Amino acid sequence: MTQEDIRAQFPQTRRKVYGKQLVYLDNAATSLRPQAVIDRWSEISAMGTANLHRAVHHVAAEATEAYEDARTAVAQFINAPETEEVVFTSGATHSLNLAAFGIGESLLQEGDEIIVGEAEHHSNIVPWQMLAGRKSLKIKVLPVDDDGRLCVEQLDGLINPRTRLVAVAHISNVLGLVNPIRKIAEICRRHGVLLLVDGAQGIVHQPVDVQALGCDFYAFSGHKMYGAPGTGVLWGRMELLERMAPMFGGGEMIDTVRWSGSTWAPVPRKFEAGTQNISGTPCFVQAIETLLNMPQDAAVRDFVYEMLVSEPGIRLYGTTDDISLKAPVFSFTVDGVHHEDLALILDKMGIAVRSGQMCAEPLMDRFGVTGMLRASFAPYNTMQEAEYFVSSLRKAIGMLR
Ligand code: PMP
Repeated sequence: MTQEDIRAQFPQTRRKVYGKQLVYLDNAATSLRPQAVIDRWSEISAMGTANLHRAVHHVAAEATEAYEDARTAVAQFINAPETEEVVFTSGATHSLNLAAFGIGESLLQEGDEIIVGEAEHHSNIVPWQMLAGRKSLKIKVLPVDDDGRLCVEQLDGLINPRTRLVAVAHISNVLGLVNPIRKIAEICRRHGVLLLVDGAQGIVHQPVDVQALGCDFYAFSGHKMYGAPGTGVLWGRMELLERMAPMFGGGEMIDTVRWSGSTWAPVPRKFEAGTQNISGTPCFVQAIETLLNMPQDAAVRDFVYEMLVSEPGIRLYGTTDDISLKAPVFSFTVDGVHHEDLALILDKMGIAVRSGQMCAEPLMDRFGVTGMLRASFAPYNTMQEAEYFVSSLRKAIGMLR
């Protein structure tokens, strides 16, 4: 498939802003949607709407089948041992909260310890802090070094007999570096500690095999991997999911309800209370097809990386000796120039980038900055766009100095 064919699948790549061609470089926040996902979402919304798992009528059966087909597709995509281990949620944030609640209620005791990576997104920090407050747990931080690399060699030393869980991202949404999950999993296994991986960025940039990774939980969103907004996944090992308490009670998550008490439906329905995302979740099928058919463009990544590491006055966060471990997610600061001003000028040039704390305030503190500028690329971003970004960035810096 040529890049032109890839771009043709994403209508928004043809959009203009301020009379200029839009250059969308905010893919780590949310990806663009391919026509196949837009069509599937519209088709179900227009003609296939019925509630799931509830009624015996034809359309309900069809909607339920579409939803369960998505579960099968996701399970195959991440090589889950069992399809039922795939729990559908509204996104990575929901998945991580659901995991923290269930793990906390059922598997942890007062005084237990959790280790969280220093570069985590707030979604993989705050639910653990909320849990720690409720259950009197201790949170320890696994640091990153000055290049943004996770100090995995310090993990052994942070683990003690009270440690129950390590929570880290597969790829940080700021640094773009692929964390060595297999190595972390080996250390966790040796100590009998659970490993939860925030895969919101990891799922997008390389094949994910949860069995090969050796983790216990893997969480991600649909909207960053070309799927529908308001969709997500928590994958967990069945044995753990079965022991975990549900976070939400309501319709469909029960087996029996009596005034004397209720019992839960089997996993995954135990975790899917209430009406689910009838139109969005089935789109995982089209999102996965799209993802599998789009080669990642290493040339664009390498070009932008080289420019940002070598340009005087620019500091890139998340550098590596092995470029194959860098996703095309580039966060940087520019000496003497505020990130917000740069983002505003780039916007006027038609370039959409992210600026600010990127939901990773502790990481901003680690590097002593109030925010960064982030350009994140997808396979539909061309070399021409990358060159335009580089020349526009130089021009914008020149205007502000
Ligand atoms: N973790 C990471 C690493 C992310 O990049 C994001 C989204 N920026 C999230 C968690 C939260 O995802 P969502 O907002 O889709 O729930």
